[in-house]
Amino acid sequence: MATSTPAISLKGLSKSFGKIAAVKDLNLDIGAGEFFSMLGPSGSGKTTVLRMIAGFELPTAGTVELNGEDVTQLAPFDRDVNTVFQDYALFGHMSVFENVEYGLRVRKISKAERKRKVMEALDTVRLADLADRRPSQLSGGQRQRIALARAIVVEPKVLLLDEPLGALDLKLREQMQIELKQLQRQLAITFVFVTHDQEEALTLSDRIAVFNNGKIEQLGTPQDLYERPKSEFVAGFVGTSNIFTEKESTALFGKKGRFALRPEKVTVSEKKKTGSISGIIAEVIYLGSFTRLIIDVSGIHIKATVPTDVFHRDQTVQINMSAADLVAL
Ligand code: ATP
Repeated sequence: MATSTPAISLKGLSKSFGKIAAVKDLNLDIGAGEFFSMLGPSGSGKTTVLRMIAGFELPTAGTVELNGEDVTQLAPFDRDVNTVFQDYALFGHMSVFENVEYGLRVRKISKAERKRKVMEALDTVRLADLADRRPSQLSGGQRQRIALARAIVVEPKVLLLDEPLGALDLKLREQMQIELKQLQRQLAITFVFVTHDQEEALTLSDRIAVFNNGKIEQLGTPQDLYERPKSEFVAGFVGTSNIFTEKESTALFGKKGRFALRPEKVTVSEKKKTGSISGIIAEVIYLGSFTRLIIDVSGIHIKATVPTDVFHRDQTVQINMSAADLVAL
């Protein structure tokens, strides 16, 4: 990736809306074939970056390059990218087939070729048998797949996805996540995915940019972000973390500084072990496949993740934490 031209290169990219600086001096390269996610809270600037890549928004400063070509001033139609929006934006008066065909008509592709490509795209999203239906006759997940088919039928080099699974219920969302990942692998094109759902970003992405306040707070693989968050913001936004203040770190570990510790690194048992400290369970939160405990150790609240639900509130327990698992912030 280091040697080949990036699929997308953003240089000094900024966007202001009046006094609001939505995106601030962003520099970012996204590699060809990468599944890249932009993750961050509402208002952190993710969508604005996506819209500048697509050409729906003109930057206040900086440039957008696609495959080495400066496209900053080009209209959306003249860029080799396509966008899938959260609300799908399907045409209600057209059939599924016509919806998918639309982009090919605009590009003046012949009728026979259009039919072949539309059916191929519908096959890819496993909806060829629904070609004659209207969008209103489809479920949310089916509509989402049509929106995907419509975007991939024109074979863009880059697919931009703005919270495409946001409107789906959890089960369907998880199913579509797997399908999206498979689709991206099969098409081998660059996906840029905007989400505020950290689990979704961790599951799908090759790399993630965590946005905060118009800037990238940290850029890395899901493992990087999870195991080595560089700031309290990332540690808190990607997964759950214990954040220990200087005073707490000194009391618990005899170490100066602010540290993060993942709850699964905290071992909880009923019996005393070497190096264990005693605490009282303040809260038990059942989360299905695991249970989260909030344990009070001399006034410090420590989150722990345990695979079972054998513990109960007000129970005295022994916990073990290793200073080696602390991540300096
Ligand atoms: P969300 O997850 O809610 O979509 P986001 O991270 O995608 O949020 P953006 O939509 O990029 O954030 O918005 C970044 C900032 O720019 C916000 O403060 C937003 O209010 C502002 N903003 C976005 N579009 C406009 C606009 N057209 N006019 C004025 N302000 C805007």
